[in-house]
Parts: sequence; structure tokens; C-alpha cells
Amino acid sequence: MTNDYDLILIGAGHAHLGVLRRWAMLERPPGRIALVSADHNAWYSGMLPGLLAGRFTASDCVVELQPICRAAKVDLIVAQATSFSAEQRSVQLVDGRQLTADWLSLNVGGKVSPLPQQGDAVDCLAVKPFSEFLSGWQRWQQTPKPLAIIGGGAAGVELALALADKVPQLSLFCAGKLLAGHNPGLHLRAIGALRQRRVRVREYSPVSRIDGDQLFSENDIVWRGERVLLATGAQALPWLEQSGLQCDARGFVQILPTLQSHSHSHIFAVGDCASLPGALKSGVYSVRQGPVLASNLMAALRDQPLKPYRAQKNSLALLATGDGGALLAWRGLSASGQLYGRWKDYLDQSFIRRHRFSG
Ligand SMILES: Cc1cc2nc3c(=O)[nH]c(=O)nc-3n(C[C@H](O)[C@H](O)[C@H](O)COP(=O)(O)OP(=O)(O)OC[C@H]3O[C@@H](n4cnc5c(N)ncnc54)[C@H](O)[C@@H]3O)c2cc1C
Repeated sequence: MTNDYDLILIGAGHAHLGVLRRWAMLERPPGRIALVSADHNAWYSGMLPGLLAGRFTASDCVVELQPICRAAKVDLIVAQATSFSAEQRSVQLVDGRQLTADWLSLNVGGKVSPLPQQGDAVDCLAVKPFSEFLSGWQRWQQTPKPLAIIGGGAAGVELALALADKVPQLSLFCAGKLLAGHNPGLHLRAIGALRQRRVRVREYSPVSRIDGDQLFSENDIVWRGERVLLATGAQALPWLEQSGLQCDARGFVQILPTLQSHSHSHIFAVGDCASLPGALKSGVYSVRQGPVLASNLMAALRDQPLKPYRAQKNSLALLATGDGGALLAWRGLSASGQLYGRWKDYLDQSFIRRHRFSG
């Protein structure tokens, strides 16, 4: 079997799942198509806090890739991509294979960068990749110890609320204001919920390094302990910047509204790995790019005109509180309670159901 394709999708992110679903249910573009994924399953991050809180099982939170690929008549290649050449339109896999394609689409998310660390007194886990984080967390659960979470965005807050009663003491460090970018009501509700669970919240405390068993913010020791969880938002994957694609200052692939790379029109990029003004780094934006990407890939392979994606101006935030409830923010409004948790569960489980195919 040749390693030349008409189209290769790299990464089973939210947008690519939407593309596969559409092609499975409606019409697929002509030619040979492959999906390269580091894992057999695609994790749905929105349900991870519920999994940690013991409300879901791991299988509730994943989309199995083989059935959806089979339904879309797409070859599933389970291997990590290690490098990518925009000029040659080729992708190198960890197992030594090299694949080439006329068209490529990237939906590989981001990574969490490690903190500079002296010594090994602190065991550091990054929240991504999820499968590695979950096996580390299972190990930690056997001997619960105080924990510091670094990252005061939505993910850090949800993780703190999910884990607060699973460790003897939990501290949450935030470089600036907690939940910066969200409305003040959500900030207050989150602070209240964290206090109720006895989480020590340290705002404006950017942790810059680990030395021995100490966390430092500038020259101050801000915490001592053995376990640190990093939830510091998406950083770009280094191999993307080295691919020849035009990237922004943070290393994310710069794209046009058609979702094509600025520098290489045969390459598309979506979700957290892409950079487009107005499109935030969150699953919600990646999901919304899916239908436009599906239609543009179809048009590209048929030599037809592409359409623009327009990022929504506002997005609903629902943050799980670990007890089945959720905090809600929409524009300037905020709310909290069990009702919003049930709504979040419904939306999250609908996403999983929509992308689950049998066989
Ligand atoms: C705890 C937590 C909770 C969150 N909750 C929410 C939420 O409720 N709502 C929300 O909107 N956002 C949420 N987020 C943010 C969200 O996870 C990301 O913004 C979102 O997943 C980005 O989606 P994506 O489509 O860009 O890619 P991702 O969902 O990150 O998927 C990338 C895919 O690419 C694959 N991949 C990566 N590298 C390679 C490689 N080298 N080779 C092959 N495959 C590769 C990965 O295995 C993965 O399948 C949360 C994040 C965290 C950490």
C-alpha cells in the first residue's frame, strides 16, 4: 500500500471529529484520505474534570476513532507525527513511515510546557496528553499528598474543584487574575466555590521554577511539596514551527478565514494549533470550525471556491464544580448550580454520542 494520499488529516481534534462525522453521514470528498492520530481514541476534554471527580468512566469521555473513520472511509493510522514539511507536504511518523499528500489538515491541539526544575523532589504532571496525565493521576491516588495546580484558567479551576476532596490540601496558582477574560461574576463565583472546598487560591503569583521541593514566583518561595499539576494553557507544538509554515510569535500556525495556512494554501490548520484573530483557544471554537473545514476540504479537492469561517463573538462558558453542578458565564451574566451542571453534562454527552459510530 502506497503512503501517498490525496488528503491527510493530522490529529483527532474536535474539528476533525466533526469533519469525519459529516463525511460519514453525508458525502465524502473523492480520493484516498487518512487520519493520523497519536491515540486510538480522541479524548473529550470537557468531561475530564467529571472523570477525575468520579462522575464518569474513561470510556464515557472518549470517541473511538476506528468506527468513525470506517464510516467516513478514511484510513486510520495510529502513530504520533514527529515532523512535518510544508514544502514537501509530507509528515514523518514516530515509527519511521513518511506519508505525503496533495492536501493536509492539522488539528493537533497544543502542549503544556514544563517548568524549569532543579532536582527531582517534585513529581510534575502536565494535564496534556490526557492519557499520560490519567495514568500519572492513578499512581498519585494510591498515596494522596498535598498538590499544587499551576494555571488559573477554566481548566485549572475545573481541575481544582474536581480534585479538592481527593488530596489532603490543594493550592491553585494563577499568573494574573483567576479566569482572566471571563466576566467578574464568574470570577467571584469561582473564588467562592474554591474557598468552599478549602482550595488555597494564589492570584498574581506566576510560578517560574521549581527548586528542590519549592515553587518559586520570582525570588519568593510560594509553596513546598512533592506534587505539581501543570494546567497552563496551550503552547505550540515545536515541530509545527519547524515545518516551514508561517507561524505567529507563539508558534501557532497562522491561518486565513478559509482555514488555510497563510503561507501554504494546500495546508489547513484548525483548533488550538492554529492562529486566527478572534478565534480563541478552546474546544468550542474548534468544534465550530469543523463544518467549515469539512466543506472547504471537499471544495479544495474538487477545485471549487472555499468559504470563510467567522469566529463567534461570544461563547458560553460552563465550568464543572466537581459535584455535578457548574458555573455559567454568558456575556456579562453569570450563574451557578446543579441545573447548569445537568445542562453541561447533556451538551458534553451529546458531543460524544454524535461522534460515536458502531462497528
Ligand atoms: C481539564 C480541561 C478541561 C477543558 N474543558 C473545556 C471545556 O469544557 N470547553 C472547551 O471549549 N474547552 C475546554 N478545554 C480546552 C480544550 O481542551 C482545548 O482547547 C481543545 O481540546 C482544543 O481542541 P483541538 O481541536 O484544537 O485539539 P485537541 O482536542 O487538543 O486534540 C488534538 C488531537 O491531536 C492529537 N495529536 C497531538 N499531537 C499529535 C501528533 N504529534 N501526532 C498525531 N496526533 C497528535 C491528540 O492526540 C489529540 O487527539 C479544557 C482543557 C482542559 C485541560
